[in-house]
Amino acid sequence: ATPTALMVGTGRGAQLGILIKGPEVLESTRRVDTVVLDKTGTVTTGKMTLLDVIAADGEDVSEVLALAGALEDSSEHPIAQAIAKGAREKVGELAAVEGFANIEGLGVQGVVDGHAVIVGRARLLADWSQHLDAELERAMHAAESEGKTPVAVGWDGKARGVLVVADAVKATSAEAISQLKALGLTPIMLTGDNKAAARAIADQVGIEEVVAEVLPQDKVATVERLQSEGKVVAMVGDGVNDAAALAKADLGLAMGTGTDVAIEASDLTLVRGDLRAAADAIRLSRRTLGTIK
Ligand code: ADP
Ligand code: MG
Repeated sequence: ATPTALMVGTGRGAQLGILIKGPEVLESTRRVDTVVLDKTGTVTTGKMTLLDVIAADGEDVSEVLALAGALEDSSEHPIAQAIAKGAREKVGELAAVEGFANIEGLGVQGVVDGHAVIVGRARLLADWSQHLDAELERAMHAAESEGKTPVAVGWDGKARGVLVVADAVKATSAEAISQLKALGLTPIMLTGDNKAAARAIADQVGIEEVVAEVLPQDKVATVERLQSEGKVVAMVGDGVNDAAALAKADLGLAMGTGTDVAIEASDLTLVRGDLRAAADAIRLSRRTLGTIK
């Protein structure tokens, strides 16, 4: 492609709400055949709400919420913010936290009111020999099958509750997926969230292939696996945990509404966080480069 055509393409991109890092990016865009999409904040709004609090037998719902909310108030994660907000609304001011630690892709831990509290995936609690009883297990599975994200709460050696959060699919996501498919691309959802929730969200937007329960460091391995199968991979994401995969992909697309780390790791930024702009970008590059051959 001539430099002029690429410059024009870049300018047209800006009009469509697509920021392109360099004109040469359009070249790799054209060859893409697979689009890997992060779930939370990319296909969904990422604005989570706390929907339900379940306490284990003999535990107090307010205490589960108060301790989990206090701990999550130290985390930037959308799940954490929903829990902290919900807790503040229902139990008031949140206690201080000591020794806060974030375990990427699994959850958080810290000391609240003298209790060693953990909030996150059941397998994180299991690492500390805190196992969910049958009732909490049931609550987790019920929420997951509805496309929601349940997280477990435990302290002082025992699992004590489940919090259910969920966000909504973006209004434009289903249309974006059908546009990507019409361009001959295969969409794949990639998420750290549970398999059932991922499947439920994927069904809502028309994605067949789902890779779920992936740790942040393994998102990049998924991209590499697809590349080793000969795929030319675009990755769309918004989170800190997407950055390595965005950089590794043949084309990285960041949500403009996402984190700076994701934007820096990407070749393109979809300014409005509207997934339809991903299809616009592919169409634009094909058109820009197609006209000059
Ligand atoms: P995604 O790929 O959807 O952006 P993450 O990799 O950030 O998800 O997180 C994966 C899973 O780890 C979440 O679905 C949740 O179960 C758990 N998790 C991560 N951070 C937190 C947190 N701050 N509080 C509770 N659970 C968390
Ligand atoms: Mg995300």
